[in-house]
Amino acid sequence: MFAVSIILSSMRVLIRNGTVVNATGRQQADVLVEDRRVAAVGPAIPGPADRVIDATGRLVFPGGVDVHTHLDMPLGAIRTSDDFGTGTVAAACGGTTTVVDYAVQSRGHSLREALDEWMARAAGHAAIDFGFHVCIADLRPEVEAEIADMVAAGVPSFKLFMAYPGRMMLDDGEIFRVLRRTAACGGLVCLHAENGTVIDLLVREAVRAGHTAPGYHATTRPAALEAEAVHRGIALARLAGAPLYVVHLSSAEALAEVAAARGRGDRVIGETCPQYLLLAAAATPDAEDARTAARTVISPPLRGRASQNALWAGLARGDVQVVATDHCPFFLDQKAVGHADFSTIPNGAPGIEHRMALLYDAGVASGRLSAERFVEVVSAAPARTFGLYPRKGVVAVGADADLVVFDPSGETRVSAATHHMRVDYNLYEGRTLAGAVETVMARGGVIVERGRFVGPAGGGRFLARAPFIPEP
Ligand SMILES: [Zn+2]
Repeated sequence: MFAVSIILSSMRVLIRNGTVVNATGRQQADVLVEDRRVAAVGPAIPGPADRVIDATGRLVFPGGVDVHTHLDMPLGAIRTSDDFGTGTVAAACGGTTTVVDYAVQSRGHSLREALDEWMARAAGHAAIDFGFHVCIADLRPEVEAEIADMVAAGVPSFKLFMAYPGRMMLDDGEIFRVLRRTAACGGLVCLHAENGTVIDLLVREAVRAGHTAPGYHATTRPAALEAEAVHRGIALARLAGAPLYVVHLSSAEALAEVAAARGRGDRVIGETCPQYLLLAAAATPDAEDARTAARTVISPPLRGRASQNALWAGLARGDVQVVATDHCPFFLDQKAVGHADFSTIPNGAPGIEHRMALLYDAGVASGRLSAERFVEVVSAAPARTFGLYPRKGVVAVGADADLVVFDPSGETRVSAATHHMRVDYNLYEGRTLAGAVETVMARGGVIVERGRFVGPAGGGRFLARAPFIPEP
């Protein structure tokens, strides 16, 4: 397998007659790939080539960069259903050629141990290039001192939780300490912003009152408690002189806090996910049967139509910079443990495969986003924010040849029966999306053809990422 990948990757490949779309503009151009990199972009590049891909009528995008995934992640006695093998093949089939996954520190252990553990899970298994953030769950002084070591090791981003008290939550003083450290060493805090203490109180009260159906997950995590946490996180970051990345914005209220901070000139970056743009919570907590409702038990929860519209507007306007997936899949039977008590349902849902197709369909094809803005939010901005640009996130000479040939007149049918994710449901079951990923190249090798993964297993490499550089 390895020998095959070498041969594929060192080929000279010419993508002819496509429309190359970068975040900054588009052009009719050929793309020449040599030695795993983009060697030329321009009109009528002469051959010969080992392989010519006809991209007439097609768009050529830089490969997608998904900076929020949870592959092979333990959660109590279970783990997410996709490992780095299955999850990255699914990502690739959807046009994503880079993932940045969250390595989680266990209490009593070091950040280095978390990184080593996740590296062992990914290396030799991931089909596409991968990097890591580290989740800090236990901020002892020696752990605080490790932050600079992680930045130096190419892991310059740190997830902190304001939710899940007793498991993952850090208190405000601890969050402030990490923000101060990252500000000093080029790190970036990725914040899960929900007020966990109040949410836990509401959850306990709901369960005591007999409100145990999965639909109560959403009602016990109201948008006000997301907005409050975003506001608090921004205030702490400002005081620490640190940039801040807010993961998975779900509500209009939380987005308003990010927009206000950006309006003041704060270095705050907002991420959302397709599920918050495209799906709404059920009208009432008992509206759906438990099995259906358990599928969308995610945190923060799905909101209403007004939040969807606000997030789309934020994405178009630039107050939301990144669309990632928060891919965190569990089998329906694993979700079923909480049918009689929503507080025991593992939080998370699958999404790594269809991010690009969903955003293209609902964003570009329906006129909400330009194709350039689409490339910005699914590829260029995540690459820049997380120290991968211009190696990733752009079709330009010298960049890694991670390329997507996309057919805007094709269509993508979404179903658990045909998707590549190792999970038995899909949040978008039965939808037909405008546009289709046709061919995907990763560092110069063709890994997806006509929706089929044809690349070598485990061909992805660890990406040591650069420290955070604020935009001018
Ligand atoms: Zn997550």
